[in-house]
Amino acid sequence: MRLIMLGPPGAGKGTQAKIITERYGIPQISTGDILRQAIKDKTPLGEKAKRYMDAGDLVPDDVVIGIINERISQPDCAGGFILDGFPRTVAQAEALCESLGLMDAQIDFVVDLNVDAKFLLARLTGRRVCRNCGQMYHVEMNPPRSSGVCDKCGGELYQRDDDREETILRRFDVYSQQAQALKTFYEASGRYKVFDGAAPIAEVSVQILSALEGR
Ligand code: ADP
Ligand code: AMP
Repeated sequence: MRLIMLGPPGAGKGTQAKIITERYGIPQISTGDILRQAIKDKTPLGEKAKRYMDAGDLVPDDVVIGIINERISQPDCAGGFILDGFPRTVAQAEALCESLGLMDAQIDFVVDLNVDAKFLLARLTGRRVCRNCGQMYHVEMNPPRSSGVCDKCGGELYQRDDDREETILRRFDVYSQQAQALKTFYEASGRYKVFDGAAPIAEVSVQILSALEGR
């Protein structure tokens, strides 16, 4: 199964993608995670991406399209994958469509998480991520059992550089510039569904998993 997660920053794309990954055994592909790893490793890709990410802007389409084309052609993606944070523009969606076409494949389901903007800022400023396994937490809404420590692997939790208020506001702007065109692109496919991402995490997963199972 090949899935796409859409929604504004903080909607819960990564959180839900991890739950779906566990259920279906297919990899979660987060362009944000790949770019953050490249920055950490100080690769040329990381150097190129850093200034866009620090500003809350999108990394250029050709860069992220290249990352995705390389990643989805890996053997572990043969049985499907979940795209989390890609595509973010219509140009990216078109490029994905073309690459899948060459592989004789297609997207099976597009999950769009709808969350009122008034909840998103608090979700993002309170987000903490495991340095080791990437699991997401929230200091109040989804806290780890022991403060600052990942429940899953014991790794250290940290706050992303771009989860500061001024960068978050820029990321919302960037999202709203692209969101409608992207929705329109996928709505026409008949495989697109909006979910209430403001519900508690477990409820959102029940909704998504039952939609996937009833497909
Ligand atoms: P995205 O990948 O869409 O940017 P995340 O999955 O990282 O969003 O979630 C952002 C923050 O909101 C995290 O701190 C996460 O724990 C929290 N969160 C995710 N889904 C929910 C939810 N349904 N209710 C409350 N908090 C949530
Ligand atoms: P995310 O982890 O999905 O919140 O993404 C963090 C940042 O990485 C974004 O603000 C962008 O700067 C960059 N990024 C991630 N995915 C993409 C993408 N598909 N297109 C462009 N930039 C991206």
